[in-house]
Amino acid sequence: MARYTGASCRICRREGAKLFLKGQRCVSSKCAFTRRSYAPGSHRNMRIKLSNYGLQLREKQKVKRIYGVLERQFRRYFHKADKVKGITGEVLLQLLERRLDNIILRAGFAVSLHQARQFVSYGHVTVNGGKVDIPSFSVNKADKIQIKGKEKFIKLIKENLENTKDIAVQGWISVDNAKFSIEILDLPSRTHVPFAVQEQLIVELYSK
Ligand code: SF4
Repeated sequence: MARYTGASCRICRREGAKLFLKGQRCVSSKCAFTRRSYAPGSHRNMRIKLSNYGLQLREKQKVKRIYGVLERQFRRYFHKADKVKGITGEVLLQLLERRLDNIILRAGFAVSLHQARQFVSYGHVTVNGGKVDIPSFSVNKADKIQIKGKEKFIKLIKENLENTKDIAVQGWISVDNAKFSIEILDLPSRTHVPFAVQEQLIVELYSK
């Protein structure tokens, strides 16, 4: 299945929520969802009542898009969550939050998930001293993450930290802005997910 390459803002408008896919633009007045909070397409004034299945499907699509995960991979996350003791929906979100690209974004070193993923793929990130270039790498408690790069890259990171200082999410991670490092203090809990998500709808969808 091909990765979605269309306009990110259309996704927010389709899902009816700000998904913060474009970094700094998302908190500015240029945000397309702020200006046009209706679904893209010509039937913008039509109110469509979704069925139960439709609601479940939309919620799944929304979460997939927030974390930039394709269907097959998302389903793998679900099956993994289903096998773990605990509330499946919450475990699913925890697994997604623990992705390395997501951590780079949450720490504020990148302004979008796409950029965070590039930083990881291009080898700018080490975990516990070893280079990790897999964006889906799952972090663990006490892991130490370091961002490295040449002067131009470090300049970009500094700009990003400045731009994201109001939206970077912390609590379960500790970020050292001067050393460009992150420490995982604890695994994320449900309250650390910075989006309004009804994960039980996804569980219902996959449990059919
Ligand atoms: Fe979504 Fe960001 Fe585009 Fe706003 S600017 S519609 S939050 S991707």
